[in-house]
Amino acid sequence: MIPPPPDTCQQQSRTRLMLSLLPGVACLLLLSTGHWQIVAVIFCLTFLIIVIGTLIPRCTLFGPLVSTLPDDSVCLTIDDGPDPDTTPRLLDVLDLHQAKALFFLIGDRAARHPELVREIARRGHGIGNHSQTHPAASFWFLHPQRMWAEVAGCQQTLTPILGHAPAWFRPPAGHHNLFLHPPLHALGLTMMIWNCRGFDTVESDVSLILKRIGKTMQPRSIILLHDLTPACVEVLEGTLILIRERGYRISLPAVPSVI
Ligand SMILES: [Zn+2]
Repeated sequence: MIPPPPDTCQQQSRTRLMLSLLPGVACLLLLSTGHWQIVAVIFCLTFLIIVIGTLIPRCTLFGPLVSTLPDDSVCLTIDDGPDPDTTPRLLDVLDLHQAKALFFLIGDRAARHPELVREIARRGHGIGNHSQTHPAASFWFLHPQRMWAEVAGCQQTLTPILGHAPAWFRPPAGHHNLFLHPPLHALGLTMMIWNCRGFDTVESDVSLILKRIGKTMQPRSIILLHDLTPACVEVLEGTLILIRERGYRISLPAVPSVI
């Protein structure tokens, strides 16, 4: 049973809901007075703001997030696990290269494989919240109650397994909406996006994935990789070799107190 959101979270979500309805109310009032040109402008601007703020992962229109590192190292992040087949193999590759990564885990999967969650932590890797059920297609339009259930649910799953609450959150598919930041704030979570990726969930050609990663990887990069894809082990191995060839240091970022 997920506890209800605290009053401050509910209040913040209500305020955001009211603000989001204002353009609609203004349009209705203006339509009744025949100002349809102004209505069209307000409608287009509102639509643009919502689309940009929701679908562009690095957009900070709705709240703060981290998308680069504060120093010249790079950070490996691995989303969508844990999985009994691929996660242990990823951990072995990381050990072989003496590298640490930040695993963004899905609550439902973590509940089915708590021993894997503990193993990831035991080997010195970081663990973040990647929502309870990973509703990738609908996360961008979740209403406040469902948003709370996804964020708090995963936090409630991971905390007793780890013995402490995760500090990082990554939204499914990188999408976020007006109602995400109140739960993050209430639960002490910081949102982390990425600035380097190889599109490993839609591309199966490992060399092409690594080419894309190599193109966007630079000091301060947060690299997005995925567990569970057919080539995830090869992609991680190739990325680690690429990092070593360029002489970059791999780090796990400390959670900023204020962003
Ligand atoms: Zn994901």
